[in-house]
Amino acid sequence: MKKHTTFKVGGNAACVAMPDSVEKRLALIKFLNENKIRCYFLGNGSNVIFSDEGFNGVIIKTSKLNFINIDKKNNTAQAGAGVLMTSFSRMMRENGLGGMEFAYGIPGNIGGGCYMNAGAYGGQISDCVLSVEYIDRQGNVRTVSRRDCDYSYRHSVFMENKWLITSATFQLRPKDKVSMLSYMEDIMQRRVEKQPLDMPSAGSSFKRPRGYYAAALIDECGLKGFSVGGARISTKHAGFIVNTGSASCADIVALADEVRKTVMEKKGVQLEKEMIIVK
Ligand SMILES: Cc1cc2nc3c(=O)[nH]c(=O)nc-3n(C[C@H](O)[C@H](O)[C@H](O)COP(=O)(O)OP(=O)(O)OC[C@H]3O[C@@H](n4cnc5c(N)ncnc54)[C@H](O)[C@@H]3O)c2cc1C
Repeated sequence: MKKHTTFKVGGNAACVAMPDSVEKRLALIKFLNENKIRCYFLGNGSNVIFSDEGFNGVIIKTSKLNFINIDKKNNTAQAGAGVLMTSFSRMMRENGLGGMEFAYGIPGNIGGGCYMNAGAYGGQISDCVLSVEYIDRQGNVRTVSRRDCDYSYRHSVFMENKWLITSATFQLRPKDKVSMLSYMEDIMQRRVEKQPLDMPSAGSSFKRPRGYYAAALIDECGLKGFSVGGARISTKHAGFIVNTGSASCADIVALADEVRKTVMEKKGVQLEKEMIIVK
């Protein structure tokens, strides 16, 4: 799974499927359910790490659900789950539609973003979602409105249900293309300056605890540069665990546990992992 995730760790999966049509997706999900075969839905793999032992089941990747339909009259756009958030954000700007600028630079796709309620620089995907289309466990295609997505900070209804998100529709608003471009270039520049983008990672390893910043807490505990095996707390941004080249999933988990323990002992704050570890 190191080939399919941005952290570049993890053993083999039994199978990786990339269905490219609705019929194939429905048939696959029905088949897996009927035969009680384990499966895992994967977007761009930018917030997930797989165990070193791999995954004994089928990974369903959404990368081939890659379409965007824009309705200029209503300022809405529907994007397939496999569309990268950065590409979607760029395309909305090119069409003078504002709302998704915050997502420029988040390396996940629309499905993963809707699942995680991805956000940055004061925006989050739930600000723009109108509805999300998914396939339920029985293989039925359903749509859920934003109100029923149960969105909050890095949380959605999809975390409690094994539903495959296939697309999402967004409500946008007309906006000046030039001001959008300068804002998007600015936030991209901030990412390049502050984040260790030259090393494999899953972005921020911990959620923001209420009233604190995880990176500041980790830094204040003197943990910048602390490492276990090939996993290290980035010296550039203490909120990121990075793979220095030879990290295993076990190294990353051990390092994250050590960080949580130290921050609890020294600061009395409980950190919660943002990255998802699949065993
Ligand atoms: C350098 C870097 C910077 C980052 N910056 C940010 C940031 O600013 N803000 C932020 O929020 N995140 C950030 N992230 C984390 C990550 O990009 C987001 O969490 C993103 O939303 C994950 O999308 P993905 O497609 O990669 O999902 P994945 O990592 O593939 O999956 C994440 C979860 O979503 C589920 N999932 C994915 N697709 C589907 C689907 N179609 N149906 C059902 N479930 C699905 C998976 O099962 C998994 O549980 C960053 C990561 C990196 C590496």
